Amino acid sequence: MPTHKNLYKIAIIGSGPAGWTAALYASRAELSPVVFEGPQPGGQLTITTEVENYPWFVKGIQGPELMEIFREQARRFGTETVQETVTGVNFDVRPFGLELDSGAIVQAEAVIVSTGASAKLLGIPSERELMGYGVSACATCDGFFFKGKPVVVVGGGDTAMEEATFLTKFASKVTIVHRREGFRASKIMIERAEQNPKIHWLLNYTVEEILGEKNGIRGVRLKNTVSGSDMEYETQGVFVAIGHEPNTKLFRGKLEMNEVGYLTVKSPSTATSIDGIFAAGDVCDPTYRQAISAAGEGCKAAIDAERWLAHKGIH
Ligand code: NAP
Repeated sequence: MPTHKNLYKIAIIGSGPAGWTAALYASRAELSPVVFEGPQPGGQLTITTEVENYPWFVKGIQGPELMEIFREQARRFGTETVQETVTGVNFDVRPFGLELDSGAIVQAEAVIVSTGASAKLLGIPSERELMGYGVSACATCDGFFFKGKPVVVVGGGDTAMEEATFLTKFASKVTIVHRREGFRASKIMIERAEQNPKIHWLLNYTVEEILGEKNGIRGVRLKNTVSGSDMEYETQGVFVAIGHEPNTKLFRGKLEMNEVGYLTVKSPSTATSIDGIFAAGDVCDPTYRQAISAAGEGCKAAIDAERWLAHKGIH
């Protein structure tokens, strides 16, 4: 039987940097929050290796370890953690209703949504196996590890152009692999990439396999989408840049979101379209998508929720 109680002042859905920071602030405000950790406890940082751009960690830290620290710090002040996924929400009632995958129903006066986003992946087995070991979905996070090495960027949208251009600061050569000749990227981003002498192009190719081991990748097997022929291409890094998907399926038709599914908030606050529901982190941020910016938003969401509860006379 689930051990959690039935009514919380603040329920936090999702356990990445935004969720744990919201929990830290809410628990220090003695609001006894609960965090439903979800299907990927710790979020996207748990599928990366070294994190070097999180302040304080002078020598860097492993992503999963960083998230364990976040979790412990939130627990220290009384955050309840529940290793379940919220599978249904009822935002038409007060307190709000949340259904968990165990079938349990809990209630919350205020909710902070921090379900994050997921990088879209190619879906090939070698990509999953080598993620964090030469395969990455974030150039800002991992570009630095590819100093002087050739890398491949997969995709033909603005993200791919931006990541490829950014990677030229580090990599010896950046090859954009795209499955057709037309691009979704904006003209200006394509032109910027075209003008960069370190960027090379392989159009009409898909990545079929990433070749290598956890101690280093050596290339990719590509398939030509026109002729159907295969070839091996040397690279030491693969950046998958085919877009991100906010984890908002649960909130469709309930909370306002933009045309691609990111929750909209009443900036500069974290209030969503429903009074008493707040959002923080990648779930509402298609622009920055960093652990540190998500943590900052988690802090804001907890303060917004705390003030909202106080205004409603809920202490
Ligand atoms: P996107 O525009 O949807 O582009 C995704 C790209 O990945 C497309 O070229 C697509 O190919 C390719 N792709 C998708 N699935 C694939 C697969 N399974 N295998 C191989 N290739 C695949 O996504 P995005 O580039 O992330 O951009 C999303 C939004 O953010 C856009 O509105 C963009 O303008 C915006 N953005 C703006 C900036 C900026 O202005 N600085 C930076 C980043 C993103 P097809 O074209 O063949 O479908």
